[in-house]
Amino acid sequence: KHAKANADRYLFHSSAMTAAVAGKLSLENELRRALDNEEFVLHYQPKVNASSGLVTSAEALIRWDRPGNGLVPPGQFIPVLEETGLIHEVGRWAMRKAVEDYLRWCDAGLPAVRIAVNVSSLQLRSRSFVAEVAQALAGDPRAAAGLELEITESMVMGDINHGIASLQAIRTMGVSVALDDFGTGFSSLSYLARLPIDRLKIDRSFINEMADSPEGLALVRTIITLAHSLRLKVVAEGVETEEQSRLLRCMDCDELQGFHFGRPVPFAAFQIRPC
Ligand code: C2E
Ligand code: MG
Ligand code: MG
Ligand code: MG
Repeated sequence: KHAKANADRYLFHSSAMTAAVAGKLSLENELRRALDNEEFVLHYQPKVNASSGLVTSAEALIRWDRPGNGLVPPGQFIPVLEETGLIHEVGRWAMRKAVEDYLRWCDAGLPAVRIAVNVSSLQLRSRSFVAEVAQALAGDPRAAAGLELEITESMVMGDINHGIASLQAIRTMGVSVALDDFGTGFSSLSYLARLPIDRLKIDRSFINEMADSPEGLALVRTIITLAHSLRLKVVAEGVETEEQSRLLRCMDCDELQGFHFGRPVPFAAFQIRPC
């Protein structure tokens, strides 16, 4: 009887696993097809200068316009792209597309608004990444100043020296680099000081809790002071209220981003206007 129960459990597990594997395989195939069929889209969310309210840059956030399904958020497919290695091709596409959109703004005579592209740690670790960034600039001398890459703390770990060298090469081209989701990783301060970056983005979770306690506020103030002493600009992400916006301005935060200023929207709907 005992053996039978075990056998049933085994069968159950095995069929559930088969279903999971099959589901993943079909998602992988669909994502491969999505790339060929140009089903990925970039939406843009404004970052504004904290003192002037002017839009300084736009973060490109990828979505998958899955047929018969609507827009799929990146959290649901980026991990699969990373597991399958497709992230390299999709990442190259996102950089090229962002540069193309930036140059469309330039051609339209709009004020220079940088475009920030999120980069997966797998991309930064790749030996060909620097060349891919150069390629994305499409030989247009205006492009480098318009491109910013958002990386995360975990990214350079593993091979710190390679990560730092790549970032240095990228910045030499004139492309800027921001450290995303700051405060959620476990990197040391000496490591932060070594990173060749231009901006630090305070993770949304800190902005969320900032107004709830004196400690929460002190934490954000300390991060801003730390960044400034390392000569980095600071961006607050996930700003949702006027109160958060006011507090961040008082603490000398440089740029603000969040639903309070604008949600991610398609390129055609993005407005470069003072908020
Ligand atoms: P992230 O780079 O930290 O992007 C910020 C995320 O927070 C976005 O979610 C954005 O829509 C959301 N957000 C912005 N303002 C607010 C706010 O005020 N409140 C709240 N609750 N949320 C806000 P999204 O678009 O779902 O992207 C999630 C993550 O997916 C991104 O986090 C980024 O890590 C990744 N991602 C997005 N696009 C790409 C891409 O092209 N390549 C790679 N490798 N990763 C990407
Ligand atoms: Mg980002
Ligand atoms: Mg972020
Ligand atoms: Mg985030």
